[in-house]
Amino acid sequence: SGTARAQIGVTGLAVMGSNIARNFARHGHTVALHNRSIAKTDALIDKHGSEGDFVRTETIEEFIAALEKPRRVLIMVKAGDATDAVIGELADAMEEGDVIIDGGNSLYTDTIRREKEMSDRGLNFVGAGISGGEVGALEGPSIMPGGPKEAYDSLGPLLESISAHVDGTPCCTHIGPDGSGHFVKMVHNGIEYADMQLIGEAYDLLRKALDLPVDKIADVFREWNSSDLESYLIEITAEVLSQTDADTGKPLVDVIVDAAGQKGTGRWTVKSALDLGVPTTGIGEAVFSRALSSALDQRKAANGLESGTLGETPTDTDQFIDDIRSALYASKVVAYAQGFDQIAAGSKEYDWDLHPGAMATIWRGGCIIRAQFLNRIVEAYDENADLPSLLLAPYFRDAVEKAVDSWRRVVVTATQMGIPVPAFASSLSYYDALRADRLPAALTQGLRDYFGAHTYQRIDKEGTFHTLWSEGR
Ligand code: NAP
Repeated sequence: SGTARAQIGVTGLAVMGSNIARNFARHGHTVALHNRSIAKTDALIDKHGSEGDFVRTETIEEFIAALEKPRRVLIMVKAGDATDAVIGELADAMEEGDVIIDGGNSLYTDTIRREKEMSDRGLNFVGAGISGGEVGALEGPSIMPGGPKEAYDSLGPLLESISAHVDGTPCCTHIGPDGSGHFVKMVHNGIEYADMQLIGEAYDLLRKALDLPVDKIADVFREWNSSDLESYLIEITAEVLSQTDADTGKPLVDVIVDAAGQKGTGRWTVKSALDLGVPTTGIGEAVFSRALSSALDQRKAANGLESGTLGETPTDTDQFIDDIRSALYASKVVAYAQGFDQIAAGSKEYDWDLHPGAMATIWRGGCIIRAQFLNRIVEAYDENADLPSLLLAPYFRDAVEKAVDSWRRVVVTATQMGIPVPAFASSLSYYDALRADRLPAALTQGLRDYFGAHTYQRIDKEGTFHTLWSEGR
């Protein structure tokens, strides 16, 4: 068709882009389709053309000409250089007021740069984090669009129509200026790493500390999914653990190589946390644990290292299963508290004015970390938008205080039995440090002043002090 009638264009029709294009079409929008090579466009039309109103285009010029004004184009190509190349081509063909949306997993600092470049050319640039994988893209993802507020006014209803909905509320909202959408998506992915690491540690304890068979562990997770841990990741943990390998008849998990991969968003979260000075230890332990698991040669070489005398299996199995559940919950609260601290720090650093309750609201559906738990986070920030830490919201404070004895038992038992629990243990240490009256940082300051005259402050008077250490000995 030669007329400009499409409400949205999608360029980049690999798995994510084609599913999102179909999602738009299924919601009654006319969708212009474009891909660098025509094969993917034709494949989509062949297989799914009957699902809605698609406009097939071959060139960028045809693609742009097919769109209603202001034109809206969603880019779903490989993050990085490919995204820059596509943005450049689109910008050359578009006009002032048009909207370019990058729905890929772009690094937020790239988005900040691109938004500036496009706004200098009179174009609206929206960096939108999209979570939910292939299925979410088709059936309703969680969408985190940043960029100019005016662009959201015209784009929002379109994106909200294809997003997941929870209790009638779309899992899509305007996040804030420039890179904020991709920043929030990055932290979301970091939290997803922490969640998965904690689940992994819980599984390992059920297996190694309690010697439970895999099918029984699947049942434990299934049961936990009707507790306050109810979430997509707990649900699919039970599914993964229930899978039997057709070749060997063993649990599938036992034939999968125990080296966790990563595509980079967890690493980005930790790098950003270091730059912002936020102790996002749960996500950090998760990223480092994946790295350790993947060091297969080193692990093989270290396999015979002495364990020392190990502790015994806990005698009360049911009690210990419940302790693990409590430790998982408390550690999860810590990971989210840290993630939300990082969002607050990013918001401050870049002047984004982000609303933590809004993030929790749009993560309730569509995305990988969707969970009942997020409703409690929404409530916590509704009650007090300036919470110093999620751990101090009455609901979470109460839950963690109830869990803390179990949490300690789990970390002690794991340590005595030689079972690694980096995220459980570091979350507990974080909690103990946060609530401590005094920290050994006073000594650190003394040392820094001793060797480098870095000075320190005193608890009893104003000012900056330096001690002539050799005279005080
Ligand atoms: P992908 O494998 O990341 O990218 C393939 C697409 O990029 C193809 O359409 C390809 O076109 C196009 N492309 C690559 N280089 C290009 C270039 N230089 N110029 C123009 N087009 C180019 O696809 P994906 O897995 O569907 O992901 C798309 C985006 O969504 C990525 O940024 C990804 O990180 C993000 N994302 C993915 C998921 C997921 O679960 N997979 C979830 C959320 C977000 P050709 O067909 O011509 O090669």
